[in-house]
Amino acid sequence: MDLKATTHVCVSPVKTEEEDTHVPPPSPMFLIMVNGGTTGAMLRIDGPETSLGRSAENSHQFPDPTVSRRHAVIKHDDSGLAWLTDLGSSNGTYLDNKRIAPGKPARIEDGARIQLGVTVVLKYVSLDPCDERFQREMFERTVRDNLTGLYNRGYFMEQIGPLCERNRARNLGTALLMVDVDYFKRVNDVHGHDVGDAALREVAKVLRDSTRTEDLVARYGGEEFVLALPIASADQGWERADQFRRELSVRPVRAGRKELRITASIGVSCSTIARPRTVKALMTTADIALYEAKRSGRDRVVASERMLADAERRTESCDAVAV
Ligand code: GH3
Ligand code: MG
Ligand code: MG
Repeated sequence: MDLKATTHVCVSPVKTEEEDTHVPPPSPMFLIMVNGGTTGAMLRIDGPETSLGRSAENSHQFPDPTVSRRHAVIKHDDSGLAWLTDLGSSNGTYLDNKRIAPGKPARIEDGARIQLGVTVVLKYVSLDPCDERFQREMFERTVRDNLTGLYNRGYFMEQIGPLCERNRARNLGTALLMVDVDYFKRVNDVHGHDVGDAALREVAKVLRDSTRTEDLVARYGGEEFVLALPIASADQGWERADQFRRELSVRPVRAGRKELRITASIGVSCSTIARPRTVKALMTTADIALYEAKRSGRDRVVASERMLADAERRTESCDAVAV
């Protein structure tokens, strides 16, 4: 991918002669994801030192098993030159396809190709504000859902692992919420597909309005949405889910001259410091909880932790009878 060769037009304001002789400040440097993550993701290189690796302590994190926890570092010296150093990684750091020696800084030029481990490939480039805007727009198109503007499922699945790890590093847990609109097929059948689309946009708006920057919100597909939230306790996960549910149930959706109300069922699963869960387990248990929310009447929240606790209580009372 040659970013510099991409054709796009950026209209600059007309400059005076005096301004033309002025040397512009250097453009900010970025690492652009070429392989091993969301293609086109832009990682800004700020400050004199930028660390790259798998763990949350790095400036930029790569959830790839062939990337070491602390893999490499980019430093800028006083004259503005950039240097890449491998920190003794297991699978090596490559600069323009050549493996660099661990612990020995290698000079990186604008346009260089950096490979971490087996799959992560990054391009080191300077982007002026126009290039940066263009690149950001292209990236947004790959990670956003067209209808709602929320993140898409692919981006969510890629981000949830690193998000859980970042939360853990802050001594927090993660709640995973699976949201499914109730009887949505009926909305389409009765009011038409356009009203259905408007209802989905309204759900997205409710989720967006009630979430914070550290939350991850995505359209999982169709009339299903998924959220990952940092939490201090499993109860907090349930409370936030119920807040979404209540907010949604009172939000009117326009259907021609009429207004309709929609509801959603939510399955919640939590990974806490005391009871950690893998991403796979979070997804599976949230899905089971969602199924239970549907089965038991819809417009409700079911948390997998509460389902487990109820099941344990039932088992204990059966044991008590048996004894
Ligand atoms: P339940 O309460 O069990 O979830 O019932 P439901 O009707 O919501 O579930 P079902 O899976 O039967 O129907 C989902 C519907 O969502 C069917 C599909 O046509 C509709 N749908 C999926 N994506 C879109 C979309 O982008 N726009 C519109 N308008 N409808 C969509
Ligand atoms: Mg569904
Ligand atoms: Mg549904």
